[in-house]
Amino acid sequence: MKYPSFLILIALLWSGDANSQDHQHAYGKALTFPDIPGFKTLKCDLHQHTVFSDGEVWPSIRVMEALREGLDAISLTEHLEYQPHREDIPHPDRNRSYQLALEEARDHDLLIIHGSEITRNAPIGHSNAIFISDANALLDENAEVPFREAKKQGAFVFWNHPAWYAQNPDGNPILSDFQRTRIKNGELHGIEVINTFDYAEESLALALEHNLTIMGTSDIHGLIDWDYLEKGNHRPVTLVFAKERSARSLREALFEGRTVAVYNSLFVGRPEFLVPLLKACIKIHRVAYIPNTDILEVELENSSSSDLLFENQMGYTFYSKPPVFEIPAGKKILLQIKTLERKGKLDLRLKALGAYTAPKTQPVVTWELLPE
Ligand SMILES: [Zn+2]
Ligand SMILES: [Zn+2]
Repeated sequence: MKYPSFLILIALLWSGDANSQDHQHAYGKALTFPDIPGFKTLKCDLHQHTVFSDGEVWPSIRVMEALREGLDAISLTEHLEYQPHREDIPHPDRNRSYQLALEEARDHDLLIIHGSEITRNAPIGHSNAIFISDANALLDENAEVPFREAKKQGAFVFWNHPAWYAQNPDGNPILSDFQRTRIKNGELHGIEVINTFDYAEESLALALEHNLTIMGTSDIHGLIDWDYLEKGNHRPVTLVFAKERSARSLREALFEGRTVAVYNSLFVGRPEFLVPLLKACIKIHRVAYIPNTDILEVELENSSSSDLLFENQMGYTFYSKPPVFEIPAGKKILLQIKTLERKGKLDLRLKALGAYTAPKTQPVVTWELLPE
C-alpha cells in the first residue's frame, strides 16, 4: 500500500522532532510574563505534593509538568507529618522527593527549591519552609521546633491556605497568637493569598498589615493537566522579581517581598511590582490619527499568557469600543480614542479590573502615547 505523500511528510517531521527534541518537555501552553525594569520575572510554583506525602505522582512528573508550562522554579513541599503512602513508599529520609526532582531537572533549565510543609491542625495550620537544607531536622512533636529549625537553615517560610474551610469553617483566615509570635521572631515571612482556585481578600489584608510576602501556589496533588490545563486554565503561580535567574536571587526577592500572585486573569500584588508588570504586559505598536479625523488609533498587544481586562480612565471616550474591554492573552486589539483635537502626546490611562493591590482596590496603569 502506498502512503499519501503528506502522511510520509508527517512521519518524517514526527521522527525528526523526536530526535531533536530528545528529553525536552516544553509544549505550546507556556506561561509567559515579561520582565519589569531592573528585575527578571521568575514564574514559580512553590507548593506542590507527590507520592512522598499525599500527592498522586512521582517527583519527576512535577518537573516535567513545570517544564511544559514554562516555569522557572518549583518546590516539592511534602507534608512532614502527613504520610498516607508510607506503607507502600517508606522513606525515612524526608529529603528524597527533592533529590529525585533534582535528578530529573539536571538536564533542564528549572530551579528546584528544597522545601517541606509543616502540618498542624488549626490554629497553627500549615506552613511551607523553602530553601531548607535538611527536611529531617524539621520533624518534632512541638510545633515551635520546625519553625526555629527552618530559620536556622535560612529558610523562607510562608503560611499556606490561611482561608481553608477545613480549618476555618467560615473561609476566613484567623491570625493566631502562634503566627503572631512566628512573625515577631522572624520565622514567618509570607502568606498564600491564592491557593488552588481560592483567592482570599482577607489573606491579602493580612499580608499588607503584617508586611508578609504575597504568594500564589497550585498546592497540586493530582495532575496539573487534569486540574488546570485541560480545563483551559493555568495553575496559580507566584511571579518573583529577582535580580537574576538563580535560586539565590529568588530567595532574596522572596524575603524582600518582590512578588505578584497570578491565577489566569487575576493578579494580586503590591503596586510597586504589579503596576510595572501590567505596564510591561501591554506593548504599544502603532499610534496614529485616522486621516481627516480627531480619532487616535492605538494598537495594543498583550504579551502575557493572561487575558487582561481594562476600564477606560481617560478624559476621552472610545469609538466603537465600550469603556470596559479585554485584551486576550497574546492578542492585539485596536483602540480608537476620541481626543476631540489632534494631540502631540497624551497618556493612555486604564484601570486593570482583574488586578488587586489591596482588597477591592484595582490599580490604574499609564502608558505614554506619541502619535505619529
Ligand atoms: Zn496544606
Ligand atoms: Zn500542601
